[in-house]
Amino acid sequence: MLPPNVINDRVYVLQTRWGNYVSHGSFEHFIEFTVAVNSLAEHFSRMRLPGLVRLCEGLENAALTHLGCAETHPIDAQDIVALQRQVDTLLGAVATSRLTTHERRTEEQTTEKREIDWIRPRHIKIVVTPEKGKMASALCRQIDFFGFQTQKHAWDENPTGDTHPLAVLFIPSTTAPDLKTQHACIAAMRSHHPASQLIYLDAPQDIETIVTLMRSGIDLTVPMEDGCSRVLNCVLDLVQSHEQEKYRVLLVEDSRVAVALIQRTLSEHGIDSHAIRNPGTLLEELQSYRPDLILMDMHMPRFNGVEATRVLRQMAAYTALPIVYLSGESDIGRQVEALRLGGDQFLSKPFNPVLLAAVVKTKIERFRETQRSSRLDGLTGLLNHTAAKSRLKTMLAALTPAHSLTVAMIDIDHFKSINDTYGHPVGDQVIRGLAWLLKGRLRATDLIGRYGGEEFILALPDISPDQALNVIDRIRADFASLPHAHASGALNATFSAGIASFPMFDTAQALTEAADFALLNAKRSGRNRVEAADCSVKNDNCFTLLQKI
Ligand code: GH3
Ligand code: MG
Ligand code: MG
Ligand code: MG
Repeated sequence: MLPPNVINDRVYVLQTRWGNYVSHGSFEHFIEFTVAVNSLAEHFSRMRLPGLVRLCEGLENAALTHLGCAETHPIDAQDIVALQRQVDTLLGAVATSRLTTHERRTEEQTTEKREIDWIRPRHIKIVVTPEKGKMASALCRQIDFFGFQTQKHAWDENPTGDTHPLAVLFIPSTTAPDLKTQHACIAAMRSHHPASQLIYLDAPQDIETIVTLMRSGIDLTVPMEDGCSRVLNCVLDLVQSHEQEKYRVLLVEDSRVAVALIQRTLSEHGIDSHAIRNPGTLLEELQSYRPDLILMDMHMPRFNGVEATRVLRQMAAYTALPIVYLSGESDIGRQVEALRLGGDQFLSKPFNPVLLAAVVKTKIERFRETQRSSRLDGLTGLLNHTAAKSRLKTMLAALTPAHSLTVAMIDIDHFKSINDTYGHPVGDQVIRGLAWLLKGRLRATDLIGRYGGEEFILALPDISPDQALNVIDRIRADFASLPHAHASGALNATFSAGIASFPMFDTAQALTEAADFALLNAKRSGRNRVEAADCSVKNDNCFTLLQKI
C-alpha cells in the first residue's frame, strides 16, 4: 500500500466524491466534488506543479459551468461522460507524475516536507539546436550549480523514459525546425510530461505567437533579453517550498446555524476560522487572532456590521484588512451603502459555498501579497532595507551578553563594470544569483536582506564569530566560482564582506557600522575577501566612518 500523504488523500476524496455524484446526482454531491477539485488544484499550486494545476483548473471550470442549482441536477448523461473523461485525464496525469519518484515506505509520511521531496524532480530538460549550444551550456552550468541535473534534447527527438523533469526549456534558433515541427515537439513533451513546467525562450513578443505556443502546451514564454536570469528564477521558484501559514478568517456572526455552515465550507478549503457572536469583543479578537479577512454579518444585536466596519476603518492597523459582508440583506440600497462605508464585497445568504470560498481566497491572496511586497525586495525576494533593519533590531532585543550573533555586510566587487559590460539584466541576474546562494546556504533563523543595490546584510545568531567568518568565506569562494550566463557565454563575479559580532558591538547601529568599516577594509585590501572588525574599530574608526558619511 502507498504511504498516506496529502496528495493521495485528496485524490481519493475527489474520486469518491465524483463517484457519489454519479450514483446520487444531487446538487450537494456536485458541490462537494467541485470543492475537492479546487482543493487538489490549490495543493498542486502550492507544490508548484503547473501542469497538474492546469488540468485541475480545467476540470474545475468545467464543473463550475455545470454548477447550476438544486433543480439542474443531475446533469445530462453526456455532460457526465465529458466530466468523467476530464477526471480520468487528471488522475492519469497524477499517476504518471508519480512514476518519477521513489516511493518511501516508512510510517510517518504525513508531513508536506517529505511529500515535496517525494514528488518534486530535480532535473531540467533543455531542447536546443547545436547553434545555441554555447548559450545552453552556460545556462546548464548555472542550473547545475544550484543542484539540478540538466539533460539536452534535440527538437526532433521523441520524449522517452519515465523520469519527468521539473521543467523543459525550449531554446529556438535561426536553424531551429519550422514552427510546425516545434509545435509537434512541444505537444509531445506536454503529453509525455504532464506535470512539468514548459518554458519557451526568445518567443517573439506578439500575442498570436504566444497564444499558439500556449495552445501547444507552453506554460511560460520568456523574451531573450532577460532569458537566462528569468529562466533560472522560474526554475528556482518552482522548487521553493511555498511554506504558507493557513489563511485565517474571523467570522462575526450571531447565528449559530450560519456559523456552523460557514465554518464547514471554510475548513473544506483548508481555511482556518474563528467565530465571534458578539461584535463587542471584535477589537480584542482581532489582536489575538490576527485574521487575513473578516466575514461580517450585517444584522447583529447591540450594533450592526456596518457600524463595526466604520470603526475598524478609522484604525490604521485595519484600513487594508479585507471585510466581506455575508448577509441576508436584500435591499440593494443598503448593500451599496455598506460597501461605501468600508466593506470590500457583499455576498448574500443563503450563500453559494464555492463562490464564498473563491471570494475569501482571492481577497486573502491579494491582501497577503500587498503585505509581503511591502517587506520584501522585488528582485530577490529577500527582506528589503527597512524590513532587514527592523528584523535585526528584534533579533538583538532578544539577546543577552551570553549569546552571540554576527552581522555581515556584503558588497559585490566591480559591479558597475558588470553592468557596463553585459547590461543591466545580466547585472540583475548576478544579484539574484547571490541572493539564491545565500538562501540556499544559510539557516532559516539567519537574517538575509538586500541592503541596497548590490549590497546585502546578514545576521547569523548562535554561532561564534570564527564560525560565522568560515561560513561567509565559504559562500564567498562558491560565489566566485558560480557562472552567470549571458547571451554569449558566462561570467564570474566576486564579493567582499565585512563582519562584526555581538557582544563586542552591542547595538544594531554599532554592528552595521563596524561591519561596514570592515567591508571597506576588505575592498581596500584587494576585494574578494572577508574581513572581521576588531575592538579598535569600536573606539576609533567608527568615528572616522561616521565623519565620512
Ligand atoms: P566596488 O567593488 O568598489 O564595490 O565597485 P562597484 O562597481 O561594485 O561599486 P559602485 O558602488 O560604484 O557601483 C554599484 C553599481 O550597482 C552602481 C549601480 O548602477 C548598480 N546597481 C545598483 N542597483 C542595481 C540593480 O538593482 N541592478 C543592477 N543591474 N545594477 C544595480
Ligand atoms: Mg445576524
Ligand atoms: Mg556598493
Ligand atoms: Mg560594489
